[in-house]
Amino acid sequence: MPRVLHISATNPEPERIAEAAAVLTAGGLVAFPTETVYGLGARGLRSADVLRIFEAKGRPHGHPLILHVENEAMAKGHASVWSETAATLARAFWPGPLTLVVERAAHVPLEVTGGLGTVGLRAPRHPVAMALIRAVGEPLAAPSANAHTHVSPTTAAHVVRSLGDRVDLVIDAGPCAHGIESTVIDVARELPRVLRAGATSLDALRHVVPGVSYGAMTVSGDGARASPGLASKHYAPHTRVTVGPREAGFIECIRVVAGPSARIGVIAWSDEAKRAVDAALKAKALTLATFARLPNTAEGYGPEIFAALHDADDAKLDVLIVEDVPSDPAWWAIQDRLRRAAET
Ligand code: AMP
Ligand code: MG
Repeated sequence: MPRVLHISATNPEPERIAEAAAVLTAGGLVAFPTETVYGLGARGLRSADVLRIFEAKGRPHGHPLILHVENEAMAKGHASVWSETAATLARAFWPGPLTLVVERAAHVPLEVTGGLGTVGLRAPRHPVAMALIRAVGEPLAAPSANAHTHVSPTTAAHVVRSLGDRVDLVIDAGPCAHGIESTVIDVARELPRVLRAGATSLDALRHVVPGVSYGAMTVSGDGARASPGLASKHYAPHTRVTVGPREAGFIECIRVVAGPSARIGVIAWSDEAKRAVDAALKAKALTLATFARLPNTAEGYGPEIFAALHDADDAKLDVLIVEDVPSDPAWWAIQDRLRRAAET
């Protein structure tokens, strides 16, 4: 079991932040909360420290890490070009869940960038993350604090379960607010392009920079290399996941997928689906091992979905049947994570 240090999410205790910063300064790994998910942090400009992240996660080299910075000034120091678009987006969305991919400065280790000429930079909004970066005084590389390809952690308990002793210290500041990773946008090219849907919506981005385009949701080959977070089989629980039709059609899908003796779990968000499942349970027409009723808004659903996927693994289900989510842009990041969870 790694050491767990409780820190207030709203008013981080300075002496506890100093304690965590000391672990990082000694070259250690510290899992810390951000407003998206828990990150596995190390000093991001030191190759030896960064390599420990890859080792702990079992993450293949060549997958770039995001550098977490205090603010735009710190970010600029690690980019060789800081374009007008980068500046505009940083001022509009930082601190917050938006990662800017820019041309890297020469001193940024290639281990961080996965050998690419670009680097992903983000200033998180979580008070603990901000205080930690300020205390260390340099950027922290921090991919999600889970074993490679597993579901991202939204609580300290998820981190402990996934990484165990491979992390030196786990900060526990309660559950993450967004529960979905940052949006990644490539601003190194002339026309900015979203590489990964995430907690900052495309609508919000376009409001500030109208020309933003959105790449394919799941790509392989070169696209996956351009942004490995896009590789399929990312964010997957151990449990087999099926995404079924939403609302009234969902109950029929459960009937088809659920065998007589299988351990079935269900995740639903719409009132129609929840009502239909409840009615089937009451009439004993259906037996479920787990039934998660998630909120019917993207803002409510996002923070709970990864925890529901972790719960599915704990319940040792044969299959988890997830109600599909609405197709409007507010749900895109969630839809993207569900598609990947269902990849086999
Ligand atoms: P994680 O921190 O595990 O959510 O993963 C970070 C993700 O950010 C990567 O998988 C990429 O999708 C994206 N990313 C980070 N740096 C770059 C970069 N230089 N170019 C393209 N995508 C990047
Ligand atoms: Mg990850």
